[in-house]
Amino acid sequence: MIDITKAEVNTLVQLQKAETERVEIELYLKGVEKEKSLLELQLTDFKTALDKLKNDFEIIRKACMDSELEVKLNDDRIEKSSANLKKVNSKDYAVLLREIDNNKKRRDTLESLYLKNLEEKEAKEKELKEQEEMLVQLTQQIRSQQDDIDIKSVSDRERLEEHKRHREKIGETLNPHILSRFNEVAQISGGLAVVEVRDEVCRGCFMNIPPQLYIEIRRCTHLIQCPHCNKILYHIESLS
Ligand SMILES: [Zn+2]
Repeated sequence: MIDITKAEVNTLVQLQKAETERVEIELYLKGVEKEKSLLELQLTDFKTALDKLKNDFEIIRKACMDSELEVKLNDDRIEKSSANLKKVNSKDYAVLLREIDNNKKRRDTLESLYLKNLEEKEAKEKELKEQEEMLVQLTQQIRSQQDDIDIKSVSDRERLEEHKRHREKIGETLNPHILSRFNEVAQISGGLAVVEVRDEVCRGCFMNIPPQLYIEIRRCTHLIQCPHCNKILYHIESLS
């Protein structure tokens, strides 16, 4: 059992106040960080969608180039066969004519495919340009929102440091055994280590305190922890 004085219990209560404030500010700042990362996520999602669009554009650009080349190759074939017409005998002449005719028919199919691809490529190009401009705007907007959040939380960060220093200063005045017990309980219970006992009820877990222990707490000579939630207990009227 750790011996304790009323003055030390008073200090513990002060230490708890400082710790509670520290935890509250830290929670608030965590929320702020989350808000910032949600904004970042919005930007990442937009970039992912833009990458997909770039990829789609690249596919249609290539298809468009290929179909343009197909049209040209077919035209070359027609031109070459037409030039050969003058040089061949009548049997080959008929074969060449049929070939030219087939290639001319093919030309329509190839050209309409090329035009369809070209149209699609231009539409994707337009969309890509718009989305890229949008990304610039969105990035600016999000960066400025994040900066606003940072500026607004500067004073809270300073406040947090102040509370940490304040907490340390109070802690230094305590018996190291008491301080280390406080730190142990605070760490386990999310920053709430010292609670009041009122009407024989622990205000940490709202369970009843056994009568003998209640008397001990009121006597205020030993550090006493709740048998249910392990928090350090004090009785406010016994401190004055
Ligand atoms: Zn309790």
